Amino acid sequence: MKFAIASLAHETNTYAVDVTGYTERHHFDVKCGNELLRFAGMRTFLGGMIDECNRRGIEIVPIFSAFAPPSGIIKTDVYLEFREAILKGLRDNPDIDALVLEIHGAGVADGFPDMEGDLITAIREVVGPTLPVTAALDLHGNISLAMTTQFTALFGNHLYPHTDSADRGAEAVSAAVDALNATTKPVTELVSLPILLQASTTDEGFPAAEMNKICSTIESRPGVIDCTVFHGFPFTDTADVGVHVVCTTDNDRTLAKECANEVAQWIWDSRERFTTESHTPDSAMLVAASLIAGGKRPIVINDTSDNPGGGTPGDGTHLLGAMLEHQIPGSAFAMLCDPIAVKEAISAGVGNSIELTIGGRHGPLHGPPLKVQAKIRTISDGRIFLTHMMRGYPLNVGPAVGIRVGEVDVILTSQPSQTFDSEIFKLHGIDTSECSVVGLKSSAHFRAGFNHIAAEILCADSPGLTTLDVTNFTHAAFTGKLWPTDPNTEWTHS
Ligand SMILES: [Zn+2]
Repeated sequence: MKFAIASLAHETNTYAVDVTGYTERHHFDVKCGNELLRFAGMRTFLGGMIDECNRRGIEIVPIFSAFAPPSGIIKTDVYLEFREAILKGLRDNPDIDALVLEIHGAGVADGFPDMEGDLITAIREVVGPTLPVTAALDLHGNISLAMTTQFTALFGNHLYPHTDSADRGAEAVSAAVDALNATTKPVTELVSLPILLQASTTDEGFPAAEMNKICSTIESRPGVIDCTVFHGFPFTDTADVGVHVVCTTDNDRTLAKECANEVAQWIWDSRERFTTESHTPDSAMLVAASLIAGGKRPIVINDTSDNPGGGTPGDGTHLLGAMLEHQIPGSAFAMLCDPIAVKEAISAGVGNSIELTIGGRHGPLHGPPLKVQAKIRTISDGRIFLTHMMRGYPLNVGPAVGIRVGEVDVILTSQPSQTFDSEIFKLHGIDTSECSVVGLKSSAHFRAGFNHIAAEILCADSPGLTTLDVTNFTHAAFTGKLWPTDPNTEWTHS
């Protein structure tokens, strides 16, 4: 057997265009041909696909991959170039038995609001209607009918943090094998809900964990291949925004529809429970101080409103400002993206103190720039390997520095990134398990890397491009009402 693999993955925050502009060619990490095989062994979608092909003795035809961190709308010519790279790879390899694709599901290019729907339509024009084309994708995908009717099957993350990406990649390969051998004839039904879901971790004790249990019970029913809830990406103004239940069965559309409706009804009835408990940055610091006084540490506080993992600039200062004001000894914060401040700190040199202005360079939404007296403690190249979510993935946040402001350690980077685990702290000589407060930018992925060390986790929300308050965003491209923006939104299953 000969399987082509390819990837085009971007989570597009359409509102970010006003803050950080469009997403350009240079934002993407592009790999061609055999370069894709470097992902082998990583706990990522491509890693899982490659490992599963190798395990089954399937010959891999690696075509193309392009990935950029979440950001604004992709420029039209950039998307068209990437689409053509994939299509050319397919035209050049007419003897493949299947295509296994990594996508995100919430990609938007200028003029292509349903980017993945357009991509699969273009792929079908090359490979025809019957070649197995499966995909592994993010649970924040805004799933369209163009996708569910044209992919042979879709395998979305079940978990948030997405620690199961490699498993879903492997599943996409297995499903393509089964479709090819005619062991199964996958059919997929989509049921969409008019809900803008806040960041909802699937960790034990949260409602999304219960939702997953219902899906796994359904998956154990005879004939069901996959049942997944896509939380959707609320920071996108497209016609397909919302929560989506996707169920794939072995040639039984009625069963697929019934199962998807069953899960969708549970979500609709439970929607109020998905409201995440949060603090303001200041109230989070007050709670942290009293927990620390009671002997608990470290207290992990996540800045969910400026989460570069959702397309924000990563230089927001709402939480960091509160940490600097409260000055709890042993506090540490990572990462604040500010390449200008990094350069200044590097020229000042380790051991010296300088006045620095940090953060807040993209307008007032994410907080003002902060003027600080900073002692330069460490300088690094900002290269780490992730240890929990996406384990093994090499993350490069560019030149970085560790500074101390009063009692607080702050790590400044040249590229925005959410904080997945403690590696960026370690790189700058900070042991997070010894900290009093660990402040970071992330909505839920950090949990995979911090649950085991945190005495307590507090979520700090404030204005921002990924605030929990999804009602701040206007969804002009969506037809109808959306909950909770319009509390009178109604839904009944078809
Ligand atoms: Zn996601």
